[in-house]
Amino acid sequence: MAAPQILIVEDEAVTRNTLKGIFEAEGYVVLEAEEGEQMHRVLKNNSVDLVVMDINLPGKNGLLLARELREYANLPLIFLTGRDNEVDKILGLEIGADDYLTKPFNPRELTIRARNLLHRVMVQHEKENRNGREFYRFNGWTLNLNSHNLINPEGEEFKLPRSEFRAMLHFCENPGKLQTREELLMKMTGRELKPQDRTVDVTIRRIRKHFEDHPGTPEIIATVHGEGYRFCGEIE
Ligand code: CA
Repeated sequence: MAAPQILIVEDEAVTRNTLKGIFEAEGYVVLEAEEGEQMHRVLKNNSVDLVVMDINLPGKNGLLLARELREYANLPLIFLTGRDNEVDKILGLEIGADDYLTKPFNPRELTIRARNLLHRVMVQHEKENRNGREFYRFNGWTLNLNSHNLINPEGEEFKLPRSEFRAMLHFCENPGKLQTREELLMKMTGRELKPQDRTVDVTIRRIRKHFEDHPGTPEIIATVHGEGYRFCGEIE
């Protein structure tokens, strides 16, 4: 999976550049539009995952554009507004804004909300792709896709934190295949890998601990030196 693409719709160059910097630092790909026509054009030519839109734009304002956008795309949308009294409009018009922030916004807050929205959409897509599957079973163990529990052969259940569950799910969906750190980190967190990022290795170590604590379980996640990891469990 490639890095998520975020489209910023904002006519003020300074704010647009600030937003671009914030999202690029998080590893997202940033696309830009200054007004509605450009926005539609960018959306037609790219696979955008999230739209961040200012309400005050030249020509059609953000509220009108959101309504147009909804006619052909069901994308998560975050509004930016300069005035508190616009918040009522955003909420009242029911144009399907998923979130909003008032300017001046806090960069950290913005990235958290963007990440949550992207994650929600990703999880939804995965559920739809699973075709009703609720479990993966391998070597006596079970991964419950609804509760995110890992269940050992004796029936003891361990609730996996989000990143561990997402890594296990990805392994079970791709048994025997090499998974690079880049792929795993993207699956786990939606982020791109940067040098010195040990998230993947730390997460794998935690997952392995479950299996290592259980005598009789063979190696489930093998290290492929210099490349990544491979799931060696036998999926039933
Ligand atoms: Ca503006």
